[in-house]
Amino acid sequence: MQIFKFGGASVKDAAGVKNLGEIVASFGSQRLVIVVSAMGKTTNKLEDLVKQAHTGQDYAATLGELKDYHHEIAQELFGEIPESYLHFERSLENELKDLGECESMLAYDKIVPYGELMSTSIIAEYLNKQVNCKWFDARTIIRTDQYFTEANVDWVVTEKQVINLLKPVAEESVVVTQGFIGSDVEGNSTTLGREGSDYTGAILAYCLNAEGFTVWKDVPGILNADPRILEGAEQYEKLSYREVTEMTYYGAQVIHPKTLKPIAQKSIPLMVRSFQDKAKSGTTISTDNTTKMIPCFVFKGNQLLVTAQVKDHSFMDEKKLGLILQVLDLLNIKINLMQNSALTFSFCIDNKEFKSKRIKELLNRDFILSFESPLNLATIKNYTPDAFNKLPWNRTVIMEQKTANNYQVLYR
Ligand code: ASP
Ligand code: MG
Repeated sequence: MQIFKFGGASVKDAAGVKNLGEIVASFGSQRLVIVVSAMGKTTNKLEDLVKQAHTGQDYAATLGELKDYHHEIAQELFGEIPESYLHFERSLENELKDLGECESMLAYDKIVPYGELMSTSIIAEYLNKQVNCKWFDARTIIRTDQYFTEANVDWVVTEKQVINLLKPVAEESVVVTQGFIGSDVEGNSTTLGREGSDYTGAILAYCLNAEGFTVWKDVPGILNADPRILEGAEQYEKLSYREVTEMTYYGAQVIHPKTLKPIAQKSIPLMVRSFQDKAKSGTTISTDNTTKMIPCFVFKGNQLLVTAQVKDHSFMDEKKLGLILQVLDLLNIKINLMQNSALTFSFCIDNKEFKSKRIKELLNRDFILSFESPLNLATIKNYTPDAFNKLPWNRTVIMEQKTANNYQVLYR
């Protein structure tokens, strides 16, 4: 069994869906489970839609754009709009009317999954014309907690459901299912965090003991820098799970950070390949760590530096650090860089307004807080002396850290 994952960019129009069909056809009689994201930028559109509907604004125009976009793709593929798709459109419309008083995170998870439900209904319909293909509702197998918008997977229940419900279907036909979505114990839809479809692919690969997991992307493989930021980016042919885990830790957007652990646990090879250049083999990630690593550059914009200072003249000791870390853990916030001194602890995080508001609420009592944003964070993994010359010039350094292998700088 092989797992394929197609992101939004790969199915952003009818040509993309046809291309997906060609890729699937080229794998002939292989048993395939295909995980698909919402088409193009649909998730962003749904985020706008739920915000409007939830705050009582007129959302008709946004909904209209969403429908037109999918209708156009369906028209081009089928010359009509399939009922399997229209079913979700109607159900989305009903849910929007009904959002009323429900909590905003819950509302998000009611509405945003429709992107994946709609895309997979169209794609399954299309594939069914060339192979024996079944549409499968990921919410019936991926069980999560109720941490809406960034739900955590219940592995025990999920594995059982994948084996009992999905596996028998996948043994008979090609399966098309949704990335990014699951459901809680009460049957509410949940989402796994933005860009979470890779993670869904990894969950299914793990539970099905897949022979391989391929992520089809709009890049030729994994590169050592974002080519939009740095000229002359090079592609890796092979990488180890460990290297890629570290790259994602520093913010490289090669693959969703949670993807690596499940597939590494079972040594399932992960291939990152181009859906545009299907002949190229891309990057293979496995236990093999024999490749000599060239420096890898990761840039993260819109960073927030938070400095917490003690209120009396005691030290920023382990107890106080513990208090801060507990709050960050509670808010599901990842620290991108940190440093402590006698009286302060400074940490850099992704700049999200609602999270910094919560930090203020929870830490104001014990600390004097200051905030600076937007800042940039650059990381060079496996640096060489030459590598530093490639960093942007004329920057004001705010914080810097260097270990034997890695260099990080936060700058204005
Ligand atoms: N459609 C979701 C998003 O855009 C999930 C994904 O693409 O992986 O975040
Ligand atoms: Mg997406």
